[in-house]
Amino acid sequence: MEQTKSFTAQRPLTHFHGGLKLAENKHLSNRSAISKLAQGREYIIPLQQHIGVISDPLVKPGDRVLKGQMLARPGNLVSAAVHSPVSGVITGIKEHEVPHPSGLSDQCIFIENDFKDEWIERRAIGDDYNHSTSSNLRKIIRDAGIVGLGGATFPSAVKQTEMHIKTLVLNGAECEPYITCDDVMMREHAKEILSGGDIIGHIIKARECIIAIEDNKPEAIKAMQAAIDNDGTGFFQLRVVPTLYPSGGEKQLIKILIDKEVPTTKHPVELSILVHNVATAYAIHRAIHYAEPLISRVVTVTGPGVAHPQNIEVLIGTPMNACIKHCGGYTENSDELIMGGPMMGFSLDADTLPVIKATNCLLVTAKDDVIDKQKQQPCIRCGRCVAVCPAKLLPQQLYWYASTQNTDRLVEHHLFDCIECGCCAYVCPSNIPLVQYYRYAKTTIWQQERERKSSDISRQRHEAHQQRLERQKQEREEKLRQKRELLQNKEKISNAKDKAGKHAAIAEALARAQAKKEQRNKNKETE
Ligand code: SF4
Ligand code: SF4
Repeated sequence: MEQTKSFTAQRPLTHFHGGLKLAENKHLSNRSAISKLAQGREYIIPLQQHIGVISDPLVKPGDRVLKGQMLARPGNLVSAAVHSPVSGVITGIKEHEVPHPSGLSDQCIFIENDFKDEWIERRAIGDDYNHSTSSNLRKIIRDAGIVGLGGATFPSAVKQTEMHIKTLVLNGAECEPYITCDDVMMREHAKEILSGGDIIGHIIKARECIIAIEDNKPEAIKAMQAAIDNDGTGFFQLRVVPTLYPSGGEKQLIKILIDKEVPTTKHPVELSILVHNVATAYAIHRAIHYAEPLISRVVTVTGPGVAHPQNIEVLIGTPMNACIKHCGGYTENSDELIMGGPMMGFSLDADTLPVIKATNCLLVTAKDDVIDKQKQQPCIRCGRCVAVCPAKLLPQQLYWYASTQNTDRLVEHHLFDCIECGCCAYVCPSNIPLVQYYRYAKTTIWQQERERKSSDISRQRHEAHQQRLERQKQEREEKLRQKRELLQNKEKISNAKDKAGKHAAIAEALARAQAKKEQRNKNKETE
C-alpha cells in the first residue's frame, strides 16, 4: 500500500429517505460454505452480459478454444469482453434466449466442453501492480471482462476514471432478502477482497476505502475486520450499517456513509467517490494476481422451491437447471424461477437459460407464496409509495404518466432516477406492479431515443452525401475550366510561334533577295 493513503476519522452514519424493513430469509442459504459446481457438457455465452455495447466475436464455429480465452472483445469503450469458461470447441454463434426482463433472445456463443480444462497461457502481474500505471491496470481489468457483480454489470474499468478519487467504497451491504453470495464471499475471501480494494485504490489514487456491511452479517463483519486489522495500513475502515432495504443502492449507501446526495445529473465520481461491489473487488484481485478473466461467479440458489439452498461457484454460461440440480432440485411445491431477489429480480420462462455475470441469485418461489398474486386495483392516491421511495420520487405520478405513455412528463419526474428497488410496489395496497410500468416506460423511451439517434444519423449521412456530390461537381467543373485554360494557352503559344515563324521566313527571303541583288550589282561592275 502506498503511503499517500491515509486514515480518515469515522464520520457518523446518516440515513436515506424511505426504505423498508423486510423479512430477510438469508438463513436459508448462508449456513454452508461455497460449493463448486462440476463442469457440464455445454456452455452458452451471451455476447451482451453488461451495460453498454454488445461485444464483437473473435471466434467462429469449429474453432478450438482454451479456458480463459477471449471469445469476444469489447464493442466500444463502454462494453465488456467475454471469455471461454472451459476448453472445448465452438459449436455455434446464434440467437438464444438470455436472462433479461424483456424475455428476448440475443447472440450467444455455444461451446462444447472437452473436459481437458486447458488454460490459455497466463502471465499475472502480481504484487508488481504497485509499480504499474493506472492505465495498464485498467487495461488488464478491461481485458478480463470484469463488470459490476452486484447486479449492475457496468464495465469496471470504465468506472475507474482518470480522475483522482478520494473515497473508495466497497459495497458489502447486500440488502435484498434471500441473497447471501456477498456475505459468504466476505467470510471466505476477506483477504482477497481487501487485495482487490488495494488495487482499485492504487488505480484511482484513493485516500481511503470504506467497506460497508449491513448489521445482519456478523460473520462477514468479523472476517473483514480481522483482515483489516491484519492489513494494518489504515487505508481500510469497516462501517456496519443498519439493515434497511435498499441500503446497498449506490446513492443510498453514499448517503448513509458520507452524508452526500448524488444529484440526478451527476455520478458519484464527480463527488470524488467510487463504489464497487465486494465481489467485483475479488474478481479484480484474481485478474491481477492470477491473470484470470471473469469466467465464474458465486450464485445464491435459494427459496422455498429449492431442496438445499446454498451458495455455489458457477462457471458463466452454465445452464441454470444444473445449478438447481446441484442444490437438490426443485421441491414439490416449487413455482416461479426468479433471477435476482424478490424485490429487484425478474421471473424467467425457462431454467435452461445460462448463468451470466449478473446472476447473483436464483430464487425459486413456492406455490403457497402469495406475493404479487392479488388482483390489481386502481390507485387510491394513498401516498404510501411516496413515503418509502429511496430516490425521493413520486411513484404514483410516474405510474400515471407511464400508463398514459406521457414520456415528457416521465422524464420531468425523473423516471431515470428510479433504481427499480420495488419498495413502492411492495407497499401499494392496490397491488399495482409499479416497477413493471417503470421498466416498460424506460425501455420505450430508450427505444425512441435510439430511433431518434438513428434518424439523426440517417439525416446526417444524407446531408454528407449531398455535400459530397456538390463538392465532386465543383471539382469536375474546376478541372474542366483548367483544361480549357490549358488548351487556350497552348493555342496562343502555337499562334505566336506560327506568327514568329512567318516573320522569320519573310526576313530570310528578303535577306536572300537583297544578297542576290547585291551579287548581281557586283557582277555588273566587274563586267
Ligand atoms: S401506493 Fe399504490 S395506491 Fe397508494 S398512491 Fe401509490 S400507487 Fe397509488
Ligand atoms: S422502484 Fe423506483 S419509484 Fe419505486 S420506490 Fe424504488 S426508486 Fe422509488
